[in-house]
Amino acid sequence: MSGKGARKICQVNGCSNSQFKLQQWKNELCPNQGFFRKDCSCCIQPYQLHRFPQAHRQEWVKNLNTKLTINDLKDYHRVCSVHFVDGKPSKGHPYPTLHIGYSLHSNWKLSPGRRAPRQRTRVQTKMDTNVDVYNKVPPDERMDVEIVQPMDVDVEPKYKDVSTQYYSAQPLNHDHCYAQKSQDKCTQTPSAPSIDTHDMNDKQFKFFTGLSSTTFWALLSSIMCWTTELPSHSLPVAEQFLMVLMRLRLGLLLPDLGYRFKISTSTASKIFSKWTILLGQYSKNLVHWIPRDGLNRIRPKCFAENYSKVTCIIDCTKIFVQRPKDLMQRAQTYSNYKSHNTYKALYCIAPNGFVTFVSKLFGGRASDVFITKHSGFLNKLTYGDEVMADRGFTIEDLLPPGVSLTIPEFTRHHKDGILPEESVTQGRRIANVRIHVERAIRRLKCFKFLSHIIPGNVKNIDDILLICAALCNLQPHLINEQNAVDDDEIEVND
Ligand SMILES: [Zn+2]
Ligand SMILES: [Zn+2]
Repeated sequence: MSGKGARKICQVNGCSNSQFKLQQWKNELCPNQGFFRKDCSCCIQPYQLHRFPQAHRQEWVKNLNTKLTINDLKDYHRVCSVHFVDGKPSKGHPYPTLHIGYSLHSNWKLSPGRRAPRQRTRVQTKMDTNVDVYNKVPPDERMDVEIVQPMDVDVEPKYKDVSTQYYSAQPLNHDHCYAQKSQDKCTQTPSAPSIDTHDMNDKQFKFFTGLSSTTFWALLSSIMCWTTELPSHSLPVAEQFLMVLMRLRLGLLLPDLGYRFKISTSTASKIFSKWTILLGQYSKNLVHWIPRDGLNRIRPKCFAENYSKVTCIIDCTKIFVQRPKDLMQRAQTYSNYKSHNTYKALYCIAPNGFVTFVSKLFGGRASDVFITKHSGFLNKLTYGDEVMADRGFTIEDLLPPGVSLTIPEFTRHHKDGILPEESVTQGRRIANVRIHVERAIRRLKCFKFLSHIIPGNVKNIDDILLICAALCNLQPHLINEQNAVDDDEIEVND
């Protein structure tokens, strides 16, 4: 790395995010896919570094809360994305206003200031465990440093856009929300939404969205870099995103979200459907097949012993839907087993719990074999793959050449219906590792939108399923982190 690159440090007082740290992070191995984070599709950069724009230098410098003046500005000076309301300089919020100097926010674990290098490294490690599963989308090296720039051009003067005055555009004015909250209780006429991304701590983020605060912001900023089609609306982008994730995570109804975010139900509905289309597209980057050399690097011990060749574990999951008006659809979705109308999808994970494939939805009547055959899953398999599944998946004949299947043996294939001892042991072994796909599905169902009965008027449920799977891939590692998962489930069920 060039000496100059090493000096690209966030200039906000108390923040030590830098190009050097980013570089270290990029050279770590992703626990999900076994690649360097910089080459990994599921690793979103924790932050980006933005140049001082020509147009707003003065305001940026003023906001930094340091001795730095506009004349001291060097080409390599940066401000990191952590300090922007929308996760990057945006039209509505072009200046760094968050976690500035002494008003450092609790939900950002920034190191308390610049210190001796050795100590800084220690802080860094702590931060990394926290931000286990990061992702970034385009693996373009230059992105982090140079993205700013389209924004400097079209940022408008700060009071122009009346519709974005939801937040005060004035810098350093973000603590107003605490005061308002206590006021709300007595006056009952709250003027700010009861939920504000910038007042939420990590625990709240996990409860409301299933993601850590760091992942939430990294994901948002990555989405904002990826698309220019974000719904423009008086509700700030971060709040829109939070609202959508809350609906998915907690299964909240639109009128409820409307009240919380101070918008009409129909606006909430519009925002939700626009975002789900967008996120559905984005999620394709996060749910994908892992090449075998990546898999071999991340295979957990429980697989290495007995099933060292298993490349994927599949199962089907059902989602309840309202009884369709259309009679044909009603018949196709009715599941005798669940005594309800359901959709059914094929869910596939890698041995380490990473979701690698989610099928479209089928009517709940469809059999496991039928869905496997028509989902496109078989096209993903290549010579040498080994699929692990439950008894119902009698798909041996469908598999491409060179692909093998491991399923527990049927009792009825044996005389007297008694399995020989070795089969019993084999069955138990399979169950021991197959449990991970069940846990993965349980994790998916922690997105309560999918575990409630989905209203008939919700469109693009396929997208929603995929989004939830992608969000699962952004959560801490499924295997070897038993506790983290269980905490998750408890929190949601409370
Ligand atoms: Zn990754
Ligand atoms: Zn910073």
